[in-house]
Amino acid sequence: QCVAVCPTGALTEVDHTGAVIRALSDPTKTVVVQTAPAVRAALGEEFGMEPGTLVTGKMAAALRRLGFDYVFDTDFAADLTIMEEGTELLGRLNKYLAGDKQVKLPILTSCCPAWVKFFEHQFPELKDIPSTARSPQQMFGAIAKTYFADKMNIKRDDLVVVSIMPCVAKKYESGRDEFAVNGNPDVDYALTTRELAHLINLGNIDFKSLPNEEFDNPLGESTGAGVIFGTTGGVIEAAVRTAYEVQTGKALKRLDFEELRGMEGLRKATIDFDGTLIHIGIAHGLGNARKLLEEIKAGHSEFHAIEIMSCPGGCIGGGGQPYHHGDVEILKKRQRAIYAEDKNKVLRKSHENPYILKLYEEFLGEPLSEKAHHLLHTQYFDRS
Ligand code: SF4
Repeated sequence: QCVAVCPTGALTEVDHTGAVIRALSDPTKTVVVQTAPAVRAALGEEFGMEPGTLVTGKMAAALRRLGFDYVFDTDFAADLTIMEEGTELLGRLNKYLAGDKQVKLPILTSCCPAWVKFFEHQFPELKDIPSTARSPQQMFGAIAKTYFADKMNIKRDDLVVVSIMPCVAKKYESGRDEFAVNGNPDVDYALTTRELAHLINLGNIDFKSLPNEEFDNPLGESTGAGVIFGTTGGVIEAAVRTAYEVQTGKALKRLDFEELRGMEGLRKATIDFDGTLIHIGIAHGLGNARKLLEEIKAGHSEFHAIEIMSCPGGCIGGGGQPYHHGDVEILKKRQRAIYAEDKNKVLRKSHENPYILKLYEEFLGEPLSEKAHHLLHTQYFDRS
């Protein structure tokens, strides 16, 4: 069993590679895999490729050769996260702008499990401020084991969901009690980027010579907004792209919000929503997050929305990624790869993902519907 230190210093890494291999060789199981946005910007380093080399297509090909029945993308679920979190943000913001003093702002992003655990332990009095939207990993698991399983006529117990994550804390997140139905978890196993590289080597696959392949559908289609979840500032930029268009009814003139990007640990920006100024804060690293939380606690936060990620650079610098030994240049190269993938996408706004629209039409109804609440949202606990 492999044990490594997690970004919060509180969790340990359990390697589920053996369990995944057993599931892949069990003919009674259908095994699907999802890959987080940051993995594609770093996996190549494990095979001697330059930092910042995008290996999206080779990664999909490798997973198919390893025997996964469906190769899907967490970026799809990142688009879904934006639909839910963006709607929640606009709901709270509009109440606030209408003069409702009870409404809780700023809204905080909730897709980083190490950050969630941090505020549950250290700032439990603020636990009704973060968005209730589950992380993309967990939204994916919930949709795979309901919508997709129903579509394919697969029993819940016969469907195994595997995640490839840049993150050690995602292992812990997938094991939280609230993300299981009668003891069957929405996400069965979370492997890190390094563990995937190990699995590819175990499978004797020559990664560098693989062709580029596509993800499967319906849970493999994503927009550029889903991709940029992989780096600091990306979640809030993705949310802005959708929230602006929904709120104003106007098409965005530009999609690259440079003011939200960068590597400084604490950043702020103001975005003009057609006359309404939205103040946004961004923190990566929990020391930086603490500063913003202290301001909220003291009642003088200047922000409407804040993105917080625990790792340096966001998920590109996650604890499950190839080791970067604190080299910021490596992180910057991975970050550039993420933005390049976004730019190359035909669709770059979550609300334009045709498979997300179909998911709402066929199954969920609308964002924040009762079904969406049940499957895609969560609650937080006082763990102080
Ligand atoms: Fe995991 Fe780090 Fe990303 Fe948080 S920022 S989700 S801890 S990789």
